[in-house]
Amino acid sequence: MKRVASFLFAALVAAVVYPAAGDLPAVDSSVRPGDAFYQYVNGAWLKSTEIPADRASISDGVTLSELAGQRTRDLIEETARDQNATADARKIADFFNAFMDEAAIEKLGLAPLEPQLREIAALKDRKALSRLLGGQLRADVDALNNTQFYTDKIFGLWVAQDFDAPGSYAPYLLQGGLGMPDRDYYLDDSAATAAIRAKYTPHLAKMLSLANIKDADAKAARIFELEKRMAMAHASRVDSVDVQKANNHWSRKDFDSKAPGLDWQEYFAAAGLTGQDHFIIWQPGAVTGISALVASEPLETWKEYLTLRAIEHVAGYLPKAFVDERFEFYGKTLSGAPKQRDRWKRGISVTNVALGDAVGKLYVARYFPPAEKARAEAMVRNLIAAFSLRIDRLEWMAPETKARAKAKLAVLKIGVGYPDSWIDYSSLEIRSGDALGNALRAEKFETRRNLAKLGKPVDRSEWVMTPQTVNAVNLPVMNAMNFPAAILQPPYFDPKRPVVMDYGSMGAVIGHEISHSFDDQGALFDSSGKLNNWWTPQDFAHFKEASQKLVKQYDLYKPFPDLALNGQLVLSENIADLAGLAVSYDAWKLSLGGKPAPVVGGFSGDQQFFMSFAQSWRQKVRDPALRQQVMTDGHSPDQYRALTVRNLDAWYQAFGVKAGEQLYLAPEQRVRIW
Ligand SMILES: [Zn+2]
Repeated sequence: MKRVASFLFAALVAAVVYPAAGDLPAVDSSVRPGDAFYQYVNGAWLKSTEIPADRASISDGVTLSELAGQRTRDLIEETARDQNATADARKIADFFNAFMDEAAIEKLGLAPLEPQLREIAALKDRKALSRLLGGQLRADVDALNNTQFYTDKIFGLWVAQDFDAPGSYAPYLLQGGLGMPDRDYYLDDSAATAAIRAKYTPHLAKMLSLANIKDADAKAARIFELEKRMAMAHASRVDSVDVQKANNHWSRKDFDSKAPGLDWQEYFAAAGLTGQDHFIIWQPGAVTGISALVASEPLETWKEYLTLRAIEHVAGYLPKAFVDERFEFYGKTLSGAPKQRDRWKRGISVTNVALGDAVGKLYVARYFPPAEKARAEAMVRNLIAAFSLRIDRLEWMAPETKARAKAKLAVLKIGVGYPDSWIDYSSLEIRSGDALGNALRAEKFETRRNLAKLGKPVDRSEWVMTPQTVNAVNLPVMNAMNFPAAILQPPYFDPKRPVVMDYGSMGAVIGHEISHSFDDQGALFDSSGKLNNWWTPQDFAHFKEASQKLVKQYDLYKPFPDLALNGQLVLSENIADLAGLAVSYDAWKLSLGGKPAPVVGGFSGDQQFFMSFAQSWRQKVRDPALRQQVMTDGHSPDQYRALTVRNLDAWYQAFGVKAGEQLYLAPEQRVRIW
C-alpha cells in the first residue's frame, strides 16, 4: 500500500552473479556477516560494479529495466517494419518514432507549444486563470498504489475507490504545483538543500531565456517565490502518507467556503468535473493555501509561472537546448547522473507512459512464457499459505482479529504477469511527426479514461503497473496485487537454480506485497477495502508498539553525517520487508516438504536464503539521488532493506551471529510483527 506499492527496486542486475544454477555471490570474507552482512554478501559486487554515467544508481532492478527497454525497442522496430501490425502496435511505433525524430523537433522549435503559451498570455482575470488551471488537471498522481505524490499542476487527480464506500470510485485531489520534488527542497535549511535551491532559480531563468522570454531573471525569482508559498501550504511527506489524515470528504460547495480564491465553478467545469458533488481531499491545508494564492498573488506572476511550467512540462519533447537544460537541473543536480540517458531509452520510457498496456501486450507474448506464469502463481499460493499459518501461530493476536486477517487474506486478488484485460487505446490519436502533441493527447486520454470510471462499478482486475515494469505493487483499497512479468525473471526468479534462491529474492518480494495488506496502513483497510480499522484496540496497541521499535531501528541508520533515515516515513515498507522475509522463509521451508535443503558451495540452505535476500538489494547510488530518496521516498535505501535480517532468529543461527557484533540485536530487541 502506500508507498507500498512500489517496492522501489532500485536496481539492477546481477546477471553476472548467477552464472550457473545455484551460484552464490563471491562473499567478502574480510568482514563478518554479523558486523556487515550487506558487505559480506555484496562486497565483491560493490567493488567491481560502476554506476553507468547515465544512471543515478545501479542494481539488479536497474539492469533488468535496461533489458526490458532493449526488448521493447526490438519489438517497436519489428512493428515499424510489419505491414500487418495491429492498430495499437502502429501507435507505439508512431509515438516512438516521432520522439526519435530530432531533426523534425529542432525544425518545429517552440511552435507546437505556441497555442498554450498564447492562451496563458491572453489571461485577463482570475476567472480565466481558474478555467485554465482546471483545464490542466490530469490523472497524474496515485497516493496509495504507486505512491506517486508529485504533480507539476496545482492539484493532481487520482480516481480510486472511495475510502468510505469502496464499491464506488471517488475523485481524490492531491497537492501540487512545485517544480522541485517536495516542499523540503524549498523550506529545509541544510547546506545540501540550499545548494540545490541555489541552482534552481538560475535553471528557471535559463529555460525562459531559451524560449526568448525577456526579463528572465526577475521572472524566475518571482516564480520561485510563488512556488515557495505553495510549498509552505503543502503537507509534509510524512503527513501525506498518513491515510487517516487524507480521508477528507468535501462536497462541491465546501470548496467555496473552505478554500476561497480559485473560482471553483470555472475550475471544475474546465476539468470535466461539473456535476461531481463528492471529492476526497488528500491534503486540505494545501488546497486551501494554494487556492488562496490564486487570489492573492498578482495575475502577472501566475502567467509567468504557468509559462515556465508549460515549457518545463514538455521540455523533453522540445529542441535539444531545452532537453539539455532540463537535464542539467533534474538529472545532474537532483540525481547526480553526469550523463543523460540515450535518446532511444528516453523514448522507450515515454512510450511506456503513453501506451504502456499496448507495449505490455507485445512484451508478454514474447517474453513471459505460460510456464513461468504458472510457476509464479504457485509460489504466490505457497506464500499465502505460509502467511495464513503465521496468523494462526501469532500468540499476541485476539481470535477475532485473526479471523478478520484471514478474511482479508482470502479476498486478495493477485495478478501475475499481466492483466486479464487491456486498456483500449482506440480513442487516442497518435500522429507521426507530432511528438509533443502525442504526449499531451496521451495525458488527456489517461485523464478521460480515469474520469470515465466515476459512477461505474469498481473493477478489481485493473492493474496499476505495466507488465514490462520491474517492480511489484499492492493496491490496498482494492485488496489486490500486481506482479509484473518483467520482475518475474532472473536474477529474481530463475527456473535454473535452487529454489531457495528464488524464495530469498522473489519470494520475499511477493511476501512484501502481501504483507502490505497487513502493515500499519493495511491494518486500516478491512477486507472490503473500507478505511476501517479491523483490529481490537489491544491488538492494534501491540502492533503500534512493535512498529515503534522498527521506527527506532531505522532512525539510527545514517547515510550521511547530516541526514538519517526517517523511521516513520519508511515504516510501512520496513514492516512489509520484515513480514515478507519471514513469510518467504516459512514458505520455502514448507516447499521442502520435510527434506533437508541441499548445501551449495559450503553454504547451508538457510545461509543461501539470507544471502539471496541481501544480494537482491545490492545497489550503488549517487549521493544526490540517495539524499532525494531519504527525503521523499517511503522506501529505505536498499542497503538498509538488506538489514531486515537482523530481526529474524534464523539469520543469527545461520551465520552464528553473536552479541558484540555490530548488527547483533538481543532477542527482545528484534521486531516481530507477523
Ligand atoms: Zn512496498
